[in-house]
Amino acid sequence: MQVIRNVYREDHEMLRETARRFFERECVPHQPAWDEAGRVDRETWLKAGREGLLCVTMPTEYGGGGGDFGHAAVIVEEQFRAGVSGAGFSLHSDIIAPYLLRLGNEEQKQRWLPKVCSGEMILAIAMTEPGGGSDLKSIRTTAVRDGDDYIISGSKTFISNGLNAELVIVACKTDPAAGAKGVSLIAVETTREGFRRGRKLQKVGQPAADTAELFFDGVRVPATNLLGEENKGFSYLMQELAQERLLIAAYCTAKTERMLEHTIEYVKDRKAFGQTVWDFQNTKFKLADVKAQVMAMRTLTDYCISEHLRRRLTVEEAAVAKLYTTETMWKCLDDMVQLHGGYGYMLEYPIARAFTDMRIARVAGGASEVMREIIARKL
Ligand SMILES: Cc1cc2nc3c(=O)[nH]c(=O)nc-3n(C[C@H](O)[C@H](O)[C@H](O)COP(=O)(O)OP(=O)(O)OC[C@H]3O[C@@H](n4cnc5c(N)ncnc54)[C@H](O)[C@@H]3O)c2cc1C
Repeated sequence: MQVIRNVYREDHEMLRETARRFFERECVPHQPAWDEAGRVDRETWLKAGREGLLCVTMPTEYGGGGGDFGHAAVIVEEQFRAGVSGAGFSLHSDIIAPYLLRLGNEEQKQRWLPKVCSGEMILAIAMTEPGGGSDLKSIRTTAVRDGDDYIISGSKTFISNGLNAELVIVACKTDPAAGAKGVSLIAVETTREGFRRGRKLQKVGQPAADTAELFFDGVRVPATNLLGEENKGFSYLMQELAQERLLIAAYCTAKTERMLEHTIEYVKDRKAFGQTVWDFQNTKFKLADVKAQVMAMRTLTDYCISEHLRRRLTVEEAAVAKLYTTETMWKCLDDMVQLHGGYGYMLEYPIARAFTDMRIARVAGGASEVMREIIARKL
């Protein structure tokens, strides 16, 4: 009993095969080393670039795959199905590179995109600050114009790809009195004087994700690094965040489907009271509930992917997809941890790993409460 997926074409499914092989062969064996090191090694990033798994939606003239959102979605689904944790490929390729493509002028695109597509230049986006992340219009980092330059001062936290990044898109205030209308996006090369990375943050899950604090102590950046127009950054962020939220829905759905498969396998094998755990009616009912919820997640996500491919996905629909899939995934994962007993708490079991790795989905990319605010505005 599967939802028939008609959102993808044959070329998407062919890419899925390539992605599945890559994640299983080139990433899964390295996961323990990455977890230990707290980051994914550069060679794997470059391999992903050579396999055409980075920046699949970027135009071929800049070294990208020339694909559409469906290609990006199948890659991220396969990454999460395989259990590859903490690799910021999709963030780099499908969430941050689009800012360079959509807002960059030709000179900026030529300057950055080829290296971004090959994996030589890793991207991060720095919105969140120690003072707050949900209320983006209140950020305090400033960019003050000085001749042909901006001088950036402030600090950011929880920045994914923060240790590996060579280019960071920084949300900063160019008109501090103007609230949301005073935010701009400026690309900052991490070689610039005054830029500093803080410690790698110790998280509940995804140990291989290099999430870090970043400091900007009067970093001088040429005004030619401004993306799009000055003071329009907030509306740029709101437009791009819809795709980020849909990607989160896509990988949460794929993860929950995979964990259901794992759990069915586990309970059919595990014995208690002279029968398998599967034989308890409670187990069957719990997993039937998970199945029903997974089908609803899948139907909603595929509808939103299809709308996005037609360029019709609204900000509110993306918020619905993120809210529903992340909250439902969380309930399902908790039930499936329970059915694993103590093994559900052991990190060597995929369900435990999913439980710790995926908790952040209800917060990052906009907390569930913020999603509800966005949805409610249009009710
Ligand atoms: C692992 C990880 C990776 C991340 N990667 C990045 C990144 O690459 N770049 C980046 O810029 N940021 C990143 N973030 C930051 C993330 O986007 C923020 O944590 C998130 O937006 C919430 O901001 P906050 O943590 O400051 O929480 P706060 O804004 O302090 O909110 C705390 C809580 O208050 C409640 N709340 C907030 N607003 C409302 C509201 N309007 N109505 C009702 N309740 C509300 C919610 O429950 C919310 O969770 C990452 C975070 C983590 C943990």
